[in-house]
Amino acid sequence: MHHFQYQQNELYCESVPVSVIAENVGTPCYIYSHATLTRHYNAFYNAFESMDRLICYSAKSNSNKAILNIFARMGSGLDIVSGGELYRGLNAGFSSDHVVYSGVGKRSDEIDYAISSGILMFNVESVNELELINQRAKNLNKKVPIALRVNPDVDPKTHPYISTGLKKNKFGIEIDAALEAYKAAYEMENIDIVGIDCHIGSQITQVKPFEDALSSVKSLEEKLRSLGIKIQYLDMGGGLGITYFDESPPHPDEYAKALIKNLKDLPVKLILEPGRVIVGNAGIMVTRVLFRKTGQIKEFTIVDAGMNDLLRPTLYNAFHAIESVRKFEGEPVKTDVVGPICESGDFLALDRYIPNVKNGDLLAVMSAGAYGFTMSSNYCSRPRAAEVMVRDDQYHIIKARETYEDLIRGESLPAFM
Ligand SMILES: *Cc1c(COP(=O)(O)O)cnc(C)c1O
Repeated sequence: MHHFQYQQNELYCESVPVSVIAENVGTPCYIYSHATLTRHYNAFYNAFESMDRLICYSAKSNSNKAILNIFARMGSGLDIVSGGELYRGLNAGFSSDHVVYSGVGKRSDEIDYAISSGILMFNVESVNELELINQRAKNLNKKVPIALRVNPDVDPKTHPYISTGLKKNKFGIEIDAALEAYKAAYEMENIDIVGIDCHIGSQITQVKPFEDALSSVKSLEEKLRSLGIKIQYLDMGGGLGITYFDESPPHPDEYAKALIKNLKDLPVKLILEPGRVIVGNAGIMVTRVLFRKTGQIKEFTIVDAGMNDLLRPTLYNAFHAIESVRKFEGEPVKTDVVGPICESGDFLALDRYIPNVKNGDLLAVMSAGAYGFTMSSNYCSRPRAAEVMVRDDQYHIIKARETYEDLIRGESLPAFM
């Protein structure tokens, strides 16, 4: 459930008409609903009520400071995948001992930053990385808490680009090699083994892959226990999907139930790293129609948002519902909704039936709260969009639209020219 609803044919975010924001802030812009964000976080957190747990919101799904601050205030932890996300997280109010750090390619400077900050644990994705962390920890005279991210080889049945738990994926340590890697970690002087981690993919719409991953992780935990290696944290990653089109992903309660029933009697603290399921449906992107164009075989609706603003349709062939901000009567038309960028891959929707909009009308691209703004770029020297948060009848610009000056910031001419 989200708080983007029509009242008298006008799309509202909570109690604010979307058209008012578009008028005052300009387009394209992202709009997030505070009530939806808190509601989704609570639903997820409460689903695991019977467990000792820490929810580590996945920063990369939406890392705006105001969004991060909402979750920090609610007691959430943070899942990061870069030094930049650590910086953002600490700046937005997370305490460092609530931060877990995943990612296959951590640099030394990022590792040092995380060690010095005192994060909860590193989710280590290779033996090479483990060795580097041990060495950096030694330099800093620290003993560093780690989990190994294991790759359980389960098929999450999602888009290939967002499946991460298969043997052919670059992520984690293959489950068959995990025991040896743990033994190696156990011998390392500056490494403290505290957990097991896995994250099998994103936009997963069934519970089965999670259950399979958990069973794999559990048998590893047993083996570790028999070797005297005690695990405090079991991190099952993120990945729970949302409804973009006609998917029917499990409710967090159902997902929780499936995990909890297999976790009873295990004296571990459960960590989860949800991203999309918390923020995905809590945001929309609003764009204005620039032109209509009728070709011999296609009808085009050209809007002022492109693949640089919302990459998911281009990258994953992802579906986002497109609604007219003002509802009106009349036959829908079949059209490609395309952006201004010089790429044929620059589309928000293909062969889609949408209301018969005119130049200047506003469209809302739904479910754009996750992997929307965070994946945006300046391609074609397009300033990045503004981001707005709504709470009840108020709204606030949580990120100003970039300016032309922003585009060239940091660029300079060499003296030898
Ligand atoms: C991206 C990511 C997540 C979040 O995934 P969602 O599908 O948005 O829930 C969690 N953990 C790790 C390691 C990730 O890379």
